[in-house]
Amino acid sequence: MNKKNIAIFGSTGSIGKMALSIAKNYKEFFNVSAISAGSNIDLLSEQIKEFHPKYVSISNPEKYQEFLYKYPNLLENINLFSGDDGMLKILENIKIDLLIIAVVGISGLLPLYKALDMGINVASANKEPIVVAGNFLLKKTKEKNNFIFPIDSEHSAIFQCLLGEEKKYIKKLIITASGGPFFFTPYKDLENVKISHVLNHPRWKMGPKVTIDSATLMNKAFEVIEARFLFDIEKEKIDVIIHPESIIHSMVEFVDGSYKAELAPTDMKIPIQYAMSYPERLVKTFDTDENLNSLDLKKIKSLNFYDLDINDEKFKCFKLAIQSLEAGNDYLVVLNAADEFLVNEFLKGTISFLDIPKYLNEILSKHSSVKIKNINDIFELDKKTKKILETIIKK
Ligand code: NDP
Ligand code: MG
Repeated sequence: MNKKNIAIFGSTGSIGKMALSIAKNYKEFFNVSAISAGSNIDLLSEQIKEFHPKYVSISNPEKYQEFLYKYPNLLENINLFSGDDGMLKILENIKIDLLIIAVVGISGLLPLYKALDMGINVASANKEPIVVAGNFLLKKTKEKNNFIFPIDSEHSAIFQCLLGEEKKYIKKLIITASGGPFFFTPYKDLENVKISHVLNHPRWKMGPKVTIDSATLMNKAFEVIEARFLFDIEKEKIDVIIHPESIIHSMVEFVDGSYKAELAPTDMKIPIQYAMSYPERLVKTFDTDENLNSLDLKKIKSLNFYDLDINDEKFKCFKLAIQSLEAGNDYLVVLNAADEFLVNEFLKGTISFLDIPKYLNEILSKHSSVKIKNINDIFELDKKTKKILETIIKK
C-alpha cells in the first residue's frame, strides 16, 4: 500500500481516537497531516505531540484561546485554526489522500460538502450530515463523481456486499440492529430509565450522542436514512432486522434470491481500518473483545433475529424518523435538530428518557413544510427548531 496523508476531523472522539490508533499501528502507511477537536484541548495536545500533524483546528473559540496560553510550545510547528470554519480552512490548505470525518452532529456537514466539492476522498462515520442534507450530498457526489466512503459498521458491511455487483440486481438492503439496551424491556419500565442505563450499550462502546440514539433506535433510523442516500436507493428497498449479537453487520438480498452478509467481531476498528486502507486490506493488529477476537462460530453456535415492530410505542423515535424521511428534507432537518437538542437535555438530566419521543413528536407535528433551498437553510431551520424546543421544554 502506498503511504497516505490523512486528516482526521473529530480526532478526540471515540471514532477519531480509534482512527489514530490504527494510524499508529501502521506508521508506514499513514501520515497524520491534520487533526481537529471540539473542546478537548488536553487530549488534542497529546495527539499533536504524538502524531506531529501540520494542521490543527479547535472548534470551540474559548478552548482555542485556552490552548494558546496553555500550550505555547506546540504552536511553533503547527498551523492552528479555530471556530466553525477551522476545518474548512484546513481543507483549503493541505493536500491529503483521505479525510476521515468523525465529528458528531451537523458540524461535519460543511467539511463533508467541501471535501466532496474539492474531489477529496472522504470516509465518514458522521451520519447526521447525511440525514439532514442527503439530497445535496448525493447531488454533489454525482456532479463530482465522488463518493462518501462509509465507516458506520452497517454501511461498511453493505458496501462490501455490493463490491462487484450492479445496483439493478439489489432487491433489499437489510440493516441489522442490536436493538440497544432496552429491546427486551417492557415500555412501562422505560419511565424510570437512568442515564447510566442508557449509556451502557450491550455491544458497542461509543460516544454519548450515538449511544443514546441507539437506545431510542433513532440511530437505526438514521442509518436507514444514511443508506438511502449513500447508496442512492429507494427507502422501500431498505429493511431493518433485530440481531442482538451484532455479528452480521448487514446484508444484501439480490434479485436472484442470493444473499450476501458481512460478519465480523463487534469492533469499530475493523470498519475504520477498512475505510483507511481501501481498496487494500491490512492485517488486524489490534485485539478485540477476547470472546469475539476471531469470531469463533463454533463457540457462538447460534445467531438470533427478531422483527422490529415499528408500531410498538417503545420505538416511537424510529417511526417518527421514517415518517420524516417520507415527509421530506425539511422534516429530516427538524428531526435531527430536535434529536440533538433532546439527547443533550436528557444527558443534562432536564428531561426523562420518554420525554425524547414525546417532544420529538410534538415538534414534528407543529412543523409546517418549508422548502430547503440550500445548505444554509438547513442551519437556519436547525437553529429555529432548537429555539422552539427550548421554549416548549421551559413551559
Ligand atoms: P464522540 O462524542 O466520541 O466524538 C465526537 C468528536 O467530535 C470529538 O472529537 C469532539 O471533540 C468533536 N466535536 C464535537 N462537537 C464539535 C463541533 N461543534 N465542531 C467540531 N468538532 C466537534 O462521538 P463518536 O466518535 O461516538 O461519533 C462520531 C460520529 O460517528 C457520530 O456522528 C456518530 O453517530 C458516528 N458513529 C459512531 C460510532 C461509534 O462507535 N462511536 C459508530 C458509528 C457511527 P471534543 O471531544 O474535543 O469536544
Ligand atoms: Mg452503526
